[in-house]
Amino acid sequence: MYFADEPEHVIQLRDTLGRFTENEAPREKRREWQAAQTWPRDVFAKLADLGVCGLTVPEEFGGLGQDWYAATAVIEELCRGGLFLAGPFIQCAFYGGGNISETGSPEQKATLLPKVAAGELLFAYGLSEPDIGGDLASVKTRAHLEDNGDVVVINGVKRWCTGADWADFILCFVNSDPDGERYKNLSMVLVPSHAAGITREVLSHQNLIYSHSFDVYFDDVRVPAENILGGPQAWNDGWRALAGRSLDVEKVEVAAMNFGLAQSAVEEAWEYAQQRHQFGKPISGHQAVRHELVQARTQLEACRHLLYHAAWLIDQGRPASVETSMAKLFIGETGVTIGVACQRILGAYGMSEEFGMAQTMRDLLGMPIVGGSSNMQKNNIANRLGLVQ
Ligand SMILES: Cc1cc2nc3c(=O)[nH]c(=O)nc-3n(C[C@H](O)[C@H](O)[C@H](O)COP(=O)(O)OP(=O)(O)OC[C@H]3O[C@@H](n4cnc5c(N)ncnc54)[C@H](O)[C@@H]3O)c2cc1C
Repeated sequence: MYFADEPEHVIQLRDTLGRFTENEAPREKRREWQAAQTWPRDVFAKLADLGVCGLTVPEEFGGLGQDWYAATAVIEELCRGGLFLAGPFIQCAFYGGGNISETGSPEQKATLLPKVAAGELLFAYGLSEPDIGGDLASVKTRAHLEDNGDVVVINGVKRWCTGADWADFILCFVNSDPDGERYKNLSMVLVPSHAAGITREVLSHQNLIYSHSFDVYFDDVRVPAENILGGPQAWNDGWRALAGRSLDVEKVEVAAMNFGLAQSAVEEAWEYAQQRHQFGKPISGHQAVRHELVQARTQLEACRHLLYHAAWLIDQGRPASVETSMAKLFIGETGVTIGVACQRILGAYGMSEEFGMAQTMRDLLGMPIVGGSSNMQKNNIANRLGLVQ
């Protein structure tokens, strides 16, 4: 794999998506979506028609077969149009396709995955809570069984639930046995996001603004036990769903978004530096600016290698926990460095909403926190590599 050309189908996919984002997500549209903190349903439907949501779904369930490398490339390419298409793509193909393919029950796979492949089902993550961030094994949202085990009843609050208003399902991570052993008292439940007993309160934030994020309150929310991810027998087995291969996929997906954002910053600064003239020449002609630009490009290239190597390992079915954490960590931190350098090259315009840079930078600043902070990745890498503590 090292130093090989990308497979022909990925080259073609990039070409198609490059034209798609250029035509369907031009800058003026992106400014509208940004101001409204929303994403375009009609454009997403056209994107889904290209079949890309099937890249995380096995063929037997209507997908193209799981191709994590290609799906990673889709995120990268969509980020050229901001996160307005990459966000919902992830919440369909990765949150849905990834988790249900990996840990769904046979019934969940048969009923939900064909709709995921068609881009017709969207998911939100209900993991974080007001008192719980990185320490997800300590979630307090409580679930218990009623009606002879046929119904799950959920009470509690989830925080930062992105897309809780438009997603079809919230993947809700619950404590299903407060007296149980740590890690063996957790379940993941597919909760229809407009089920009775759910209320929402919108949160204010400056990153990932393709959507609002919410506090979601669960007040005696009742769902069938069939909605436990993996089926009723997966009750109290939710940590496996969260921390297994799905977590590797999740890290790659966040890293891919992060990489796409960093690439956008470099491309915008690269173009701007050749157009902006100061002291009688393009600012790209001043050595300090030249060096900043090539430094950012070089750092970006290092990010690219880590990202696609991690995706490739997942495709090969090889252990990837360390490499996916390294990619998430390195791209998160390097993305901020790249963003700061690129924003500075735009001078005052790096702060103006007339350019993409200001929003790209706000997004880049959040990336080392969301989806498992940099410190969490360092802890994981140290533990996996057996570093004595
Ligand atoms: C815009 C946005 C959208 C989001 N969308 C979602 C979503 O859809 N669903 C969802 O569930 N969550 C979502 N999140 C939440 C996000 O995943 C969390 O912010 C993230 O997991 C970190 O949790 P925290 O912010 O509570 O930080 P904390 O866990 O409280 O950590 C705070 C700081 O302490 C450090 N720290 C904590 N523990 C340790 C340790 N053991 N060792 C070293 N350092 C440590 C962390 O690295 C961090 O720097 C979103 C957040 C934002 C901002």
